[in-house]
Amino acid sequence: MLIAASTAIGASAIGLDLFSPGLSATAAGTYLRPCGDVRISSSWQGHKNRNPPSGEPGTDYAVITGTQIRAAANGVIVDRKDSTTTATGRYLALRADDGNYIRYLHLQSSTVPLGARVARGQVIAYSGASGFGSDTGYGPHVHVSLWIGGTPLQLGFTNSVDFENYAEATPYPPPPEDPVPTHKSMTLSWNAVLPEGAWARIPVAPGSFWLAESSATIKETGELSLYLAATGVTKGFQVRVVAQTLNTSGGVVSTSPQPMLEVPATKATTANAPTYGLYTLPYFLSGPLRLYADIRALNPGIRVQQVVFKKNYWQS
Ligand SMILES: [Zn+2]
Repeated sequence: MLIAASTAIGASAIGLDLFSPGLSATAAGTYLRPCGDVRISSSWQGHKNRNPPSGEPGTDYAVITGTQIRAAANGVIVDRKDSTTTATGRYLALRADDGNYIRYLHLQSSTVPLGARVARGQVIAYSGASGFGSDTGYGPHVHVSLWIGGTPLQLGFTNSVDFENYAEATPYPPPPEDPVPTHKSMTLSWNAVLPEGAWARIPVAPGSFWLAESSATIKETGELSLYLAATGVTKGFQVRVVAQTLNTSGGVVSTSPQPMLEVPATKATTANAPTYGLYTLPYFLSGPLRLYADIRALNPGIRVQQVVFKKNYWQS
C-alpha cells in the first residue's frame, strides 16, 4: 500500500497526469455523488445546450456554501487550485484508480493536499461559490466534471461525459430542464483606433460597456460571446473579461481580470482585410458583480470596426 501510494504521489508531484494504458471506464453506477441526495441545478446536457456551449460541461449540485464534498472513488488528488481567480474558482482534481478524471469546481476550501491518496466517501473539500476572483462569483453549488480514461488536457476540456451516468443508482429526481434563456444580440460599429499596449474597454452598445450585472438580490447565469472585426492588425490583439465586485452602494470593491485570449493577425486576402476574433464565456454571477471586456492592441494602428455582442442569460 505504501509503495503504491508513494508512486502515485510521485507521478502527480511532477505534474505528469499520466494514465496507465489499458485503463478504461469501469465506473458506471459506482461513483459517489459529492453531496448526497441534493437538487441538480444544471445538468451536463444543460451545460452542453448553452449557447455557446459550456467550455467544461458538468453537473451542478445545488448546495449551500460549506457543504462537505466527498470523493467519488478511490484515487489521487492530481491538481488543486486555491485561488478564486478565473471562472473555475478553487478546484480539486481526482484521478480515480480506474483511470478516469474528475474535477470539483467553485470550492470554498480543500481539505486534502496535492498528491494525497483519498478513499471513496472521504471528505475532500467544502463547497462554495468561488470564481471570477471572488468568493461570491457563482451562486453556491459544486460543479463536477468527468473525463473517461484521460485528463482534460489529453481529451479536451469540452469532451467530458455526464457524471450522473456514472453515479450510483439512487432515487434521484430527474434533473430539471435549465430555464429558457433570454437572448440578446447587439451589433455596434465602434470604429476606434486602439492605443498600442494599453487595455481599452469594449463598448457593447452605444455608451454601454457592461456585459452582465448581478446584485445582492438578482443572480444572473448565461453565456456571452464577443465577435470583433479589426483592420491594421499586423501582430495581433488580446481580449479579456474583467469582473468587478461591488459593495452595496455600487462602488467597486475589487477588480479581477480573467485569462485573456490572444487573437493573432490573419493573413489578408485583400488589402486591409479585417482580422476577426471571437471570445466566449459561460458565467454565473451571484452577489453584486459586474463583467466587462477589454481589448489591447499588440501593434499600433489597429482600428476596430465592429463589435457583435451576443448573450443568452437568465436571472433568478
Ligand atoms: Zn456548472
